[in-house]
Amino acid sequence: MKILNKEILKNGFISLNTNEKDLNLKDEINKLKKEKNAVILAHYYVKGEIQDIADFVGDSLALSQKAAETHADIIVFVGVHFMAETAKILSPQKKVILPDLNAGCSLADSCPDNDFREFILKHPDHTVISYVNTSAKVKALTDIVCTSSNAVKIVESIPKEKQIIFGPDRNLGNYISRLTDREMVIWDGACHVHSEFSLDGILEQKKNNPDAVIIAHPECPKPILTISEFVGSTSALIKFTKENSAKTFIVATEPGVIHEMKKLSADKFFIPAPGEDAECACSECEFMKLNSIEKLYSCLKYEQPEILINEEIRKKAYIPIKRMLDLS
Ligand code: SF4
Repeated sequence: MKILNKEILKNGFISLNTNEKDLNLKDEINKLKKEKNAVILAHYYVKGEIQDIADFVGDSLALSQKAAETHADIIVFVGVHFMAETAKILSPQKKVILPDLNAGCSLADSCPDNDFREFILKHPDHTVISYVNTSAKVKALTDIVCTSSNAVKIVESIPKEKQIIFGPDRNLGNYISRLTDREMVIWDGACHVHSEFSLDGILEQKKNNPDAVIIAHPECPKPILTISEFVGSTSALIKFTKENSAKTFIVATEPGVIHEMKKLSADKFFIPAPGEDAECACSECEFMKLNSIEKLYSCLKYEQPEILINEEIRKKAYIPIKRMLDLS
């Protein structure tokens, strides 16, 4: 086990042995899952082949709810680090593992806990709302957590006379501020995927596909949201494409979500919105894409890398997540 720990320290994940390379990994994962009473939770942004073998696929809110209610002994979180941390905060008695410790999040990283603490101190008496894309330490400084699905509801639950700090996503914060007509003190963070979509590129796609409906995640900047006909969380975007009568959609969020959209609407077309980089036709989250079937198999087999959180931090971080779940 020490050798494995060294490998995780060096690489952030466990590699396959040469004699494991010929295995049918999907069958092996299913066997291990039953033997160990494990559940596989996958985010919509991970590769389609992983979504297909997961027990549950969802967005941040649904995955948090699933993590809270599962009776499995092991939660394999195929997503990014803050999501696995959220699962551990909600299920401290369970082992939570993540296939690759390098799967971080630029948005969560844009809000270091020490800087956020100082920011809060500069705005005393404000209610602190943090998006779920934050570290456990930032959640521990927070009054109530939100996701993009429930952010309006969470903001509206705060009495009008109370002032609000919203972090860390400036685009989501400004969008929710416009929707709720509430002024908020907003942390200046962003997700590098959602903030890099090209407005000109999307308009060009629309010109070439005039019947296509532009849809966007609220982590995108205002100009992208302004030209979008529908703005919503990952789950809301999926639902919209299923129910809307249009045949073609230009999708301004991480393109992994198109896997589920196609499953639900096989007769429709989905065009991933382009990023600012002209060389790149899409805007993928490289952190989500670090997850692979090979790493999922190894992590389930060795039950590592494991997510561990200081108990004092975990208890503090649990309170704002529980408040959110109670309100959802
Ligand atoms: S898409 Fe953005 S917000 Fe989502 S995990 Fe990747 S970096 Fe974080």
